[in-house]
Amino acid sequence: MSFVHTITFRLTIWYLLVLGIILTLLSTGVYFYLWHSLYANLDQSLEARAAQLGDMRGILTSIRQGTFQEELGEVVSLYFYSGDELLQVSARDVDIPYDSQLVEQALAGGSSFATVKTEDHQEVRLHAVPFSLEAPAFFPHRHGMSPRRTDIESAALVIGRSTEEIDQALKRLRHTLILAFPLTMIVAGAGGVFLARRALKPVEHIAQTAREIEESDLSQRIKVNTRDELGRLASTLNEMIERLEQAFRRQQEFTADASHELRTPLAVIQAESTLALQKDRVASDYRGSLELISQETNHMATIVDQLLTLARADAGKQQFVFEDISLGELLGELAPDIELLCREKRLHFQLGPVENLVVRGDRARLKGLFLNLLDNAIRYTPSGGTVSVSFTQQEQMAVVAIRDTGIGIPPEHIPHIFERFYRVDRARSRAEGGSGLGLAICRHIAKAHRGKIEVESRVGEGSTFSVFLPLSE
Ligand code: ADP
Repeated sequence: MSFVHTITFRLTIWYLLVLGIILTLLSTGVYFYLWHSLYANLDQSLEARAAQLGDMRGILTSIRQGTFQEELGEVVSLYFYSGDELLQVSARDVDIPYDSQLVEQALAGGSSFATVKTEDHQEVRLHAVPFSLEAPAFFPHRHGMSPRRTDIESAALVIGRSTEEIDQALKRLRHTLILAFPLTMIVAGAGGVFLARRALKPVEHIAQTAREIEESDLSQRIKVNTRDELGRLASTLNEMIERLEQAFRRQQEFTADASHELRTPLAVIQAESTLALQKDRVASDYRGSLELISQETNHMATIVDQLLTLARADAGKQQFVFEDISLGELLGELAPDIELLCREKRLHFQLGPVENLVVRGDRARLKGLFLNLLDNAIRYTPSGGTVSVSFTQQEQMAVVAIRDTGIGIPPEHIPHIFERFYRVDRARSRAEGGSGLGLAICRHIAKAHRGKIEVESRVGEGSTFSVFLPLSE
């Protein structure tokens, strides 16, 4: 798998993308904040300086006498009109770039700021403030020219300061940010790959274990060391493997049980037929052998039918035809068979409380379910005992209880009797014609009706199988 197709790559790319956006926004923010505050500081200092310079007459006098003290990096000029001519007076013979809008605005009484470029491409920040004079003043028109009397009513004081320092600082910051950005991205990218690889390491371990698990050996488990998402994933996979292992074991047991179950009648048929064919026998012997073979064949046919039913149930291919069924009517249909079976085994058959209940169900399947339970009750109850049936209602459920006064089921076996081929007493069940699949089928039918079967039993006293079925609406 190429690196480009890994989660590590995708995570790192996303991470770098987000980091890149954050860094860009942050750097731009810091740069412009600094830019703004440095210029604001400069403007404030220019304002303070303008206020400090104060009185115009003093400035003119000190300029004339050559005692005007400019601060470092500062240029001060005065502009005023002499007639139509705009004159400029400054302490040194340094020209600050002339910004007509700035000067005109100050002459008209408004102070303002502007940034201009000198001839040697230096930037200068200018601040112009209006100045007024009550009395006319003399001034040197320009350095080296004779003073001339001019009536000055209003003048503009322009203070300029080079922005070089600020520009240098901003330039250094720009360079630092431009250099820091790719460096940060490289370090973060490497860190991102390292962290993502570390975080995803357990995935490789999970995949490795999964590769090692074979169909025949599901005993392996993924070692879980963490409680994070991957730890939970590993636990979930372990639970799934556990379920698969159990299902696989059940499947193996089922196949072994089914083969064993079919082998017994086959062995009987084989032995009986071999014996019958060994020498000539009288007709009654042949009849006896054929009856035994027929009996075993019937038993095998029953098992195969039941296996087929369960296989269809497992595959979800069984079709149920639901209709409203009166339980009383259904019992009426079953009664002749039950009474016959009871009579054969000399058992009493009793009807308990019978409410007139209607359930929604599949008639043939429900008949099969009740017959199976009644058949078991009769099979596991010794002669002289009693088998009884009752219908009652519990909330929205009809409860069909089939009671017997038979041998009962030991408590430790009760949780297992619905498992396939599970029998409390294998020899007895087989002798009685049971296959161990009846209750598994009964439970499947009850579940398909959204119902359930509960068992109560006491050894030597008898058992009660209660079938809960939803009542018809
Ligand atoms: P079987 O064909 O062996 O009867 P079932 O699935 O119907 O198989 O029942 C499973 C086991 O449950 C039986 O082998 C038997 O041991 C026990 N069992 C079922 N019904 C009763 C009952 N009414 N009284 C005592 N034991 C019962």
